[in-house]
Amino acid sequence: MFEKVLIANRGEVALRIHRACREMGIRTVAVHSEADANAMHVRLADEAVCIGPARSADSYLNKPAIISAALITGADAIHPGFGFLSENADFAEMVENHGITFIGPTAQQMRLMGDKITARKAAIEAGLPVTPGSPALETVEDALAWAEKIGYPVIIKAKDGGGGKGMKIAFNAEELPEAYSMARAEAKAAFPSDVVYMEKYLQNPRHIEMQILADKYGNVVHLGERDCSIQRNNQKVIEESPSPALNDAQREEIGEIVRKAIEKIGYTNAGTLEFLYEDGKFYFMEMNTRLQVEHPVTEAVTGIDIVREQIRIASGAALGYSQKDITFSGHAIECRINAEDPETFSPCPGKILEWHAPGGLGVRVDSEIYSGYSIPPFYDSMIAKLIIHGKTRNACLMRLRRALEEFVIMGVKTTIPLHQEIISQAEFIDGQYNIHWLEKFMERNKK
Ligand code: ADP
Repeated sequence: MFEKVLIANRGEVALRIHRACREMGIRTVAVHSEADANAMHVRLADEAVCIGPARSADSYLNKPAIISAALITGADAIHPGFGFLSENADFAEMVENHGITFIGPTAQQMRLMGDKITARKAAIEAGLPVTPGSPALETVEDALAWAEKIGYPVIIKAKDGGGGKGMKIAFNAEELPEAYSMARAEAKAAFPSDVVYMEKYLQNPRHIEMQILADKYGNVVHLGERDCSIQRNNQKVIEESPSPALNDAQREEIGEIVRKAIEKIGYTNAGTLEFLYEDGKFYFMEMNTRLQVEHPVTEAVTGIDIVREQIRIASGAALGYSQKDITFSGHAIECRINAEDPETFSPCPGKILEWHAPGGLGVRVDSEIYSGYSIPPFYDSMIAKLIIHGKTRNACLMRLRRALEEFVIMGVKTTIPLHQEIISQAEFIDGQYNIHWLEKFMERNKK
């Protein structure tokens, strides 16, 4: 097992990884920007190294600085967390070339799945159901021809896309040329490549994803699904497991399809396969080759520490259990709490004057915040995740309501009031929602 792990991230996920390491008797190295010198992940780690100025490009994305920090401190592995360099295959390769273990899949697996076009191809070959779609689109004419074949509406997506960027919908042939050129322009600005492709646009799907774990010896398990349909601007706001839309038989069926596909692809470490789900059918969208923000809901219902498993797998340990050993218990919901104005969603960094996190049975708060901490304006606005576990969905909802009431965050605006509103809506309570529900609800509320 590793003796020292460098955590190449900040915020709550850096803390999350630190906690798993400490429970495994592993020492931790925090890295931080100049703006994060007082951050909790820096305070708790065994060692800390400043890797550059506030701007992410100069610090948390600064590959040579991070690798130097690992070499200087003698870390034998690097955990990338999520965001930043977590899906950067070149970084994973650099890490391994310096004799340090990258806690994640291989660079090759990351490249295969990081490109939405090659990922689709691999998914089809591995027997996963996908949305009807095109290969890379060279020209507008090409796009028009494929759209005819697939049938409108269609969605144009960047092959290197992420974070909901570079996606444009066209409902007919008149709209297509603009959607095509806008998607390419956005992709060019945001990603390494401006290559785009097309998928059938599903009109009212849910977003349901499957968590998997795979060791280096071909053992693969799935840890069930997460329903992440409560979204705004293609960004997840609330996630839950199990999905209110699936029954046990459906979970077992898609779980087995996913397990076999991962075996076939030969993927290792933790990963998530994202699907759209409409009219009882699954459509593979993409695979995330890293830890996900919403992993705690799966941990709550399975009792499995996913970060610990990532570290074990990377160190060469076998899973040591199989699918029949995985059991699901109760229901879990996560709310992402952002330092944002709950109405305009503009970021609201600043000093936390008072912080009181809820507690009690079935309540987990993952956060880097403490009283007196100043949230820097340079990074993502998520400041806490509230994860609730209950015996049933209804018990979970009651507990979530109680926990949100208890939360005190003074000094900055947060999205807590939005969460309180969402969870009091009849459709949410009944589990009757799809990926458009939140935006429609907010539209209605404005009027
Ligand atoms: P990203 O990598 O940018 O997050 P994804 O491919 O995961 O992009 O898609 C993000 C979101 O966009 C999905 O959760 C869904 O809301 C929407 N979306 C993507 N593809 C489709 C599609 N074919 N039909 C309908 N909605 C889609």
